[in-house]
Amino acid sequence: MTTAQMDTSPANTLSELRTDSDRLWQSLMTLAELGATPKGGVNRQALTELDRQARDLFIQWCKAEGCTIRIDAIGNIFARRAGTDPDAPAVMTGSHIDTQPTGGKFDGCFGVMAGLEVLRSLNQHDIKTRCPVEVVVWTNEEGCRFAPCMMGSGVHTGQLSLHEMLAQKDSDGVTAGEALDSIGYRGSDEIPRENVRAFFESHIEQGPILEDEETTIGVVMGALGQRWFDLTLTGQEAHAGPTPMSLRQDAMLGAAEITVAANRIAIDHAPHGRGTVGVMQVHPGSRNVIPGQVNMTIDLRSLEPDSLTAMVAELKEVVEAVSQRHRLTYELTPTADFVPEHFADNCVNAVRNAASQLGYSHLDIVSGAGHDAIFMGRIAPAGMIFVPCEGGISHNEIENAAPKDLHAGCNVLFHAMLDQAEIVS
Ligand SMILES: [Zn+2]
Repeated sequence: MTTAQMDTSPANTLSELRTDSDRLWQSLMTLAELGATPKGGVNRQALTELDRQARDLFIQWCKAEGCTIRIDAIGNIFARRAGTDPDAPAVMTGSHIDTQPTGGKFDGCFGVMAGLEVLRSLNQHDIKTRCPVEVVVWTNEEGCRFAPCMMGSGVHTGQLSLHEMLAQKDSDGVTAGEALDSIGYRGSDEIPRENVRAFFESHIEQGPILEDEETTIGVVMGALGQRWFDLTLTGQEAHAGPTPMSLRQDAMLGAAEITVAANRIAIDHAPHGRGTVGVMQVHPGSRNVIPGQVNMTIDLRSLEPDSLTAMVAELKEVVEAVSQRHRLTYELTPTADFVPEHFADNCVNAVRNAASQLGYSHLDIVSGAGHDAIFMGRIAPAGMIFVPCEGGISHNEIENAAPKDLHAGCNVLFHAMLDQAEIVS
């Protein structure tokens, strides 16, 4: 249905309203020009000149829709469309527009452009809401230039310290605070954390489930908790020939057994258990020397706190037993601990109802990755909408999503927000 057709239809009921697919796609493609890579991806890392240009563009677009702009001390941008009741809680959406060095056009950007499209659709159809509607651009979600990830939402929600985050340095020694100053985005607006009725984030799935199930909308129930570890196993380097098997202290053999165990532990905690060893450094790394030391990482995830706690306990038992068996010493250091997040009923229901009423296929799903909405969920009711992405691939230049799926996700966002923001006739 085109815009012109909608405007001339006298029988427009609320449920027939849709966002504009072409306009959404055009804003995504225009944004993707900033930092476009030859392979069709985007390299627009946090707080760079390109990030500044993308932020300027977002603000220009939001001002054209009559929004008020506020910028906080970590550079988060809040674009607000006033409601009729100045005391009403805000209904918010948003995501991020920074990318990985070899990132795609949709991760994060879809959530922000979908929010912009909601603002434009509200204005186009002259809809007044009691609650203000707000679109947020969170600073440095990716965490590739400045660690950690989800910096902006982490500071806003009090999960991360502003002072510490401003002091984080990139690989050239530039602090996040200096980078914010250099692009003119260190704001001074105090954004109250209270008084949020609902926060929605629409996002590409970054996994293969929706595509595999041929389903358009993922109703995100929550996010997996994460426990990350660094593990160093130390044995004894020795010659691969003269040392008999029974007398070895092979750190690599221990690492291999622990890798297999991490996989098994996750499978034992199906359906939401995950176990991954993603990094392994073997010393001395010579083909005819028994490895004396291995440095490795272990990433465990699950949806239920009890299950995650049990997985960690099992991992510790395995590390202890394997080390004893191969006469290794070990050091197991926690590096990240994110509790599982269950999204709020009002947000999850608003997303599911909107998907049903709009006639989109949908299923309940959990997020395996970190998102700004997860931090928002700690201080306010939050929820997420997933749409399929090709092959489940993201954080890569070949990341792709179909315009019709993005439009569906945007329509679900629009109606979920309308549901929470209370239309004033
Ligand atoms: Zn993202």
